[in-house]
Amino acid sequence: MKIVSGMRPTGKLHLGHYLGVIKNWLILQENNECMFFIADWHALTNKYKDTSDLKENIFQMMIDWLSCGIDPQKATVFIQSAIKEHSELALLLGMITPKSWLELNPSYKDLKFNLFFQYIRDFLYGKNIKIQEEQLREIVYKAFYHKKDVDFGLMEEELKKISNEKVAKEIVNNLAEGEIGKEIDTFGFFGYPVLMAADILIYKAEAVPVGEDQLPHIEITREIARRFNRFYKEVFPEPKALLTPQSKLLGIDGRKMSKSYNNAIYLADTEEELNKKVLSMKTDPSRIRKTDKGNPDICNVFSYHKLFTDEDIVKEIDTSCRNAQIGCIDCKKILAKNLNKFLEPIREKRAFYEKNKEDLIDIFKEGNNKAKKEASENMHQIRNAMNLWID
Ligand code: SF4
Repeated sequence: MKIVSGMRPTGKLHLGHYLGVIKNWLILQENNECMFFIADWHALTNKYKDTSDLKENIFQMMIDWLSCGIDPQKATVFIQSAIKEHSELALLLGMITPKSWLELNPSYKDLKFNLFFQYIRDFLYGKNIKIQEEQLREIVYKAFYHKKDVDFGLMEEELKKISNEKVAKEIVNNLAEGEIGKEIDTFGFFGYPVLMAADILIYKAEAVPVGEDQLPHIEITREIARRFNRFYKEVFPEPKALLTPQSKLLGIDGRKMSKSYNNAIYLADTEEELNKKVLSMKTDPSRIRKTDKGNPDICNVFSYHKLFTDEDIVKEIDTSCRNAQIGCIDCKKILAKNLNKFLEPIREKRAFYEKNKEDLIDIFKEGNNKAKKEASENMHQIRNAMNLWID
C-alpha cells in the first residue's frame, strides 16, 4: 500500500513522538511503500516570524528518524520544500477548494483555543493564582465554543470564580484586543489543509496514518481529490485514514508532553539528563512517606513502567507500591535504568549521525530525488488533465 506521512520540524523528538508516530512508521515501512517527509513548509504556518532554528530542527529530525530505525532502504525519506511540485499542486487544488471547506477546518479554532488557554494559564501563574488546569480548560472551552464567536462576557464571569474581578477583567480585555492568536490569522494558516492535500495527492497515496484529531484533514483531502477527478480526469485515488492510537504518555509533570511545557523526555537526552528528569517526576500525590501505601493507577511513573519495564517487574512494583514495600526513589531509579536501556541504541546512532552530517544529507538527497521523480511524473499528468500549458 502506498503510504504518505509527514512531521513538522519543531525541534528534537521526545518519547511522545516516538510512541505516537515513529513506532507506527517502523511497522508500516516493513510491508508498505512508505514516503516520510519533513514538513518544513508546514512549520511556517504558525511560526513564520523567527525561522532561525528551522534548519537545525530539520537536521535534528533527520537524525532522530534514522536513529530510531526509519530505514531509507525501505521508505523514501525526504524534505517537503525540496519538492516544489507540492506547492504547484497546492496552488492548483486551491483553485478548486471552496472557502467554506477551509472555514470548517477544526484545527484553526482548536489552535486558537489552545493559545487562549495557555495565555490565561500563564497569566494566572504570573499572578501567583493557583488553578486546576482541567477546571480552567473547561472554563475556556465553555466560553470558546458556546457561540460562533468567543463569549467574553461568559469568560469573565467564570474567571472571576477562580481568580478575582480585577484579574478576570484584565485577562478578558487583553484577549478582546485580538493580539492573542493573531499570528495564525494568515492566508498560509487558513489554506494549509490544501497544502496538506497536495502533499498526499502528489504521490497518489492510498493511505495516511493519522491521529483521531487529524481525521478532518484526510476528509478534506478526499473531498478535494473527488472534486478534481469529477472536474477533469480520474487522477487521484481517495486516500484512506489509518487511525493511529495517540500516545498516552504524559510529561514528567503529569501534563501533556510538550516542548512548550518543558516537561518532555527527548530521544537526545543524555543519561544524566534523563536520570534527573525521572527523579523529578510526580508520583501518587497522597504518598508522602515511604511507609504510606501508594496507588500506581494514579502515578505517572507507573504509567511509564507499563511501557518501558518488563511485565513481571511491573507486577512486582504494583504490589510493592500498594503495600508500601518500595520507595518512590527506588521505583524511579528502576524506570530511569529501563529508559536509558531503551534510549542507548538511539543515542549511539544519534552520535554517529551528528558526526557524519554529510552521510545524513546524502541519504535525504537520495530520498528527495526519488520523491522528485515521482512528483514530477504525476504533476505532468495533473497539468495534462487540467489542460495547462506543458513545455
Ligand atoms: S512506588 Fe512507584 S508506582 Fe508507587 S507511587 Fe512511587 S513512583 Fe509511583
